[in-house]
Amino acid sequence: MKSAEPAKKSVALEPTPPAPGTTGQDAVREKEDNFPVLIAEDNSVSRRLLEKNLERAGHRVVSASNGREAFDLFRKQFCPMVITDWMMPEMDGVELCKAIRADQSQGYVFIVFLTSKDTKEDIITALEAGADDYLTKPFHRAELIARLKTGKRVLDLERSLKKANEEIRIMSITDPLTGLFNRGYLMDRLPEELNRAKRYNHPLSLVICDIDRFKNVNDTYGHLAGDEVLRRLATCLKGSVREGIDWIARYGGEEFFIVLCETELQGAMAFSERLRRTIMTDLSVVWEGHRISVTASFGITNFTPSTDQDISTEALIKEADRCLYLAKEEGRNRVRGGC
Ligand code: GH3
Ligand code: MG
Ligand code: MG
Ligand code: MG
Repeated sequence: MKSAEPAKKSVALEPTPPAPGTTGQDAVREKEDNFPVLIAEDNSVSRRLLEKNLERAGHRVVSASNGREAFDLFRKQFCPMVITDWMMPEMDGVELCKAIRADQSQGYVFIVFLTSKDTKEDIITALEAGADDYLTKPFHRAELIARLKTGKRVLDLERSLKKANEEIRIMSITDPLTGLFNRGYLMDRLPEELNRAKRYNHPLSLVICDIDRFKNVNDTYGHLAGDEVLRRLATCLKGSVREGIDWIARYGGEEFFIVLCETELQGAMAFSERLRRTIMTDLSVVWEGHRISVTASFGITNFTPSTDQDISTEALIKEADRCLYLAKEEGRNRVRGGC
């Protein structure tokens, strides 16, 4: 392929700087951070030189001989750091830079221009196209590596912000005592789940599970013992549902909602009956030498696609609550559904 770039001046290799002292933690981080640096450079000699230098500095490298090829590689394998030449056939560095900026689905990309174009206008054009840094050829090895370190700091900062945001998001939908979803999540997600069931004509069942006479547990053994019972019940519930399909939320103090996707009333009744027995026979907490056992009552409601297209989530919850009330009225430790 014919190069669109004028002939390069020769590039002097700088001696490799001594590796900084590393700790075990550094090694782990280094491994985590071993993302590839994407090089877009049409001149094969310059490309190889750049590859060698980056590899010597510990970077993994992916190379392309023009912007188009680089962008195709980028879309196949996310590279958060890109070093691009400006003048290249098919797609030049500015176009590549704009294409990457327009397609940032996976996170921030630190883009460095490395080009022989060196006027102020060129620098401004590249920065306005979305470049983070700009270096001119011939590059100074230590400077290039130092600038990539700057890029790495930016990427690290972005990663830690993302991590913190994700932690906050998870906290906002999680019940801290049991680790289950909280009521807010239930009220957000249930309408979505119901809409999906309506759209695809799939059944959906909603089970409310309420510990019987839980107040007695607190009154007899104390609140901390009650908390432990709640945690154990949550574990039991988690173990009883299909992972990635059904989901559970703590609705109130000792009330839990279990959402059974693709499940008709009959299946939900059988599921709840099994769960009721498991809680009665297997769930016990030993607290200060006392064995605490509990039972639970269940109310079930369901969405049937052929008849319930107009039903709301509020109506479903109300119906499940009414069934639970009947189960309690009839003596507790029982399952009532479709009331
Ligand atoms: P029923 O069989 O009718 O459901 O009786 P119950 O005692 O289970 O129901 P009630 O609504 O009378 O009492 C619920 C109790 O749950 C009262 C409250 O102190 C307790 N509770 C609510 N949240 C928590 C919690 O986070 N930890 C503990 N330990 N107890 C809680
Ligand atoms: Mg070029
Ligand atoms: Mg109760
Ligand atoms: Mg209750």
